Amino acid sequence: MSPVAIARPGLMDGKALSVAWRDALALAVAAWTKAGGRPPGLAVVRVGDDPASAVYVRQKTLAAREAGFEVSDVVLNESATQDQVLAALGELGARSDVDGLMLQLPVPGHLVTDALLEAIPPERDVDGLGVWQAGRLGIGAPDLRPCTPAGIMALLEAHGIVLAGARALVIGRSRIVGRPMAQLLLGADATVTVAHSRSRDLPDWIAEAEVVVVAAGRPGFLPGTAFAPGAVVIDVGIHPKPGGGLVGDVDWGGQAPAVAAWTPVPGGVGPMTVTMLLVNTWQAHGRREGHPPLAAPVAS
Ligand code: NAD
Repeated sequence: MSPVAIARPGLMDGKALSVAWRDALALAVAAWTKAGGRPPGLAVVRVGDDPASAVYVRQKTLAAREAGFEVSDVVLNESATQDQVLAALGELGARSDVDGLMLQLPVPGHLVTDALLEAIPPERDVDGLGVWQAGRLGIGAPDLRPCTPAGIMALLEAHGIVLAGARALVIGRSRIVGRPMAQLLLGADATVTVAHSRSRDLPDWIAEAEVVVVAAGRPGFLPGTAFAPGAVVIDVGIHPKPGGGLVGDVDWGGQAPAVAAWTPVPGGVGPMTVTMLLVNTWQAHGRREGHPPLAAPVAS
């Protein structure tokens, strides 16, 4: 097996890449507003008291404010009805100062997620999770891409990883990560396999893969030894450790990873997810206001 070509191997530092993107974005926003333009507006809706969701929303709203965005942070009671959440999304989606609107998932079990996501206008769907955006992705048309897979593509690109013709394996098939990830890799001309909880012979697929995106949501379920030495390993998992801190889906056993390139947890995919939400919001703003999307910062 010939290993995938990588211009910049080693640790894929999502935190550092995020800083580069967010600095470039803050400059663009500042230039826009200094010239008299309206700042981009992001609205985030959260339902209930899930502590992890509260942390994620805080990260997003803080980053958006730091980039110069106007932020509406709406928190609804855990017992909010479907109609109440729909009403909140409808109101925010109709506001002229809101360019990007997102619903933090998961929502409490009595709510119907799919129907709520459909209440977000497609042109403001900066999480890229609605049916319209999923369809655009499915046919390979440019639009607002789901943030976690988009962040992973930005990391792969920043490291000069040649995806055309590469054997890529996506482990997980969720609406948020696995499915759109597979589509984006396909769009970049990789040969894509999607594995999931019912897949047989996972170790064989992993051993054959040149690029592996692990999004099974199971702490440390793959040992670092599972991968081919020349592989690129993206660990999407985020799990709190009992004593504090975070672990991913991959357990490197305390050793330096013996693969060609890899993402750390924390500091890999997580910051890029937040960054792509801002990049998408700027893109949605640009469509209304007439400016181009942000170009990827040049890798140092
Ligand atoms: P999910 O639970 O919706 O989906 C998990 C997927 O993994 C399913 O499709 C399932 O079929 C598959 N799976 C489960 N066990 C498997 C196994 N043994 N072998 C193969 N496939 C298996 O989870 P999700 O929303 O896709 O998230 C996955 C992980 O990524 C979670 O840990 C989540 O916290 C994390 N996440 C991180 C970010 C980030 O920004 N870093 C963003 C979203 C999700």
